[in-house]
Amino acid sequence: MNSIKKPGVNTVCTHVGEIEDKQFKGAISPLYMSSSYAYENVDIKRYPRYFNTPNQEALCKKIAMLEHAERGLIFGSGMAAVSTTMLAFLDKGDHVVLPKTLYGGTYNFVTEEFEKFGIEYTFTQGFSEKDFTNAIKQNTKVIYVETPSNPLMLITDLKMIARIAKEHGLVTMIDNTFASPINQTPLDFGIDISIHSATKYMGGHSDICAGAVAASEEHIQKIWHKAKNLGGSLSDYTVWLLERSMKTLALRVKAHNKNARKMAKWLDKHPLVASVYYPGLPSHPDHELAKKQMRGFTGMLSFELIDSVDADAFMNALQLVKQSMSLAGVESTILSPAKTSHALLSAEEREKQGILDGLLRFSVGIEDKDDLIADFEQAFDAVGKEQLQKLLS
Ligand SMILES: *Cc1c(COP(=O)(O)O)cnc(C)c1O
Repeated sequence: MNSIKKPGVNTVCTHVGEIEDKQFKGAISPLYMSSSYAYENVDIKRYPRYFNTPNQEALCKKIAMLEHAERGLIFGSGMAAVSTTMLAFLDKGDHVVLPKTLYGGTYNFVTEEFEKFGIEYTFTQGFSEKDFTNAIKQNTKVIYVETPSNPLMLITDLKMIARIAKEHGLVTMIDNTFASPINQTPLDFGIDISIHSATKYMGGHSDICAGAVAASEEHIQKIWHKAKNLGGSLSDYTVWLLERSMKTLALRVKAHNKNARKMAKWLDKHPLVASVYYPGLPSHPDHELAKKQMRGFTGMLSFELIDSVDADAFMNALQLVKQSMSLAGVESTILSPAKTSHALLSAEEREKQGILDGLLRFSVGIEDKDDLIADFEQAFDAVGKEQLQKLLS
């Protein structure tokens, strides 16, 4: 590894950070489950909740390099990463600006917990420069964004956010989960801190719950200090599994990108589909912006069926594609945001955000595209045959 100056992304995924097995010369990082280590000095006291066991440190190197960051930290869940990072930079009396279309868990964290910490917040309605600058107040410390957004895959201009933040002396954070570091490296655009639910693309097999943060040494120090107090560290066994998963991250994400692009195009032409939301489609309102800041457009897309086709019946008719709350696994999954992730919003608020009852969020897996299309075709046949015949006659 030392012989390679600038490893490519697949080499980073496969090798960076790996622990050499000096004892047996095994091919992969050994797993160190010790929760207790001999005292080295005041600076190095190894302990799982200090986020510095051998396996944690190894995996953090890989994540940092993938995010083009100086350092990384891994957590017990995406929400542990989100909450610890926010609380590291927001004190009593501070204010944060965030878009309204946040991931549900983050929205709940802000609206249910901030008041008791004395932290103020403003949700922006949209994603424009005006939306963000109008929300900034005297005591604003942080701008927090999520792009692409869930479920409509709307794009926030990262360069613009970084510029606004610089003008006002603010720290910027992004939830980079949907894009993954393969498709988007926000620090390249001046964003300070990139956060992930590693439960999604990084883990990628729907069997790990974890979180990650990548940033400068200085910012990570600050987050680490809060993390020790809050205690959201990840078990080393799961760290080791996550390292294994991430060896194929670039391969997987490229396969997700390719399948999603093909499925988006196919759905876009289908007579029973009213609209498709995928930033890789030229018809998406943010396509040009997405091209500027993303290398690929992810495996996530949403689509709306025409009014006369029942979305629930359609989902139930699918056989290969399963209904599931989570996303970004190698298997394709689908859900109704109005009934699940966004069920707690009022119907009026959902309509304002463009999340209609017939909208379906599709996490496109890595199965063969033709099999996905065959499954969709048989489901459309099962629930929309009459409508299809009417439309085609
Ligand atoms: C799942 C998710 C989270 C929360 O992650 P957990 O691992 O479930 O705690 C945060 N942000 C986004 C965008 C997510 O999809």
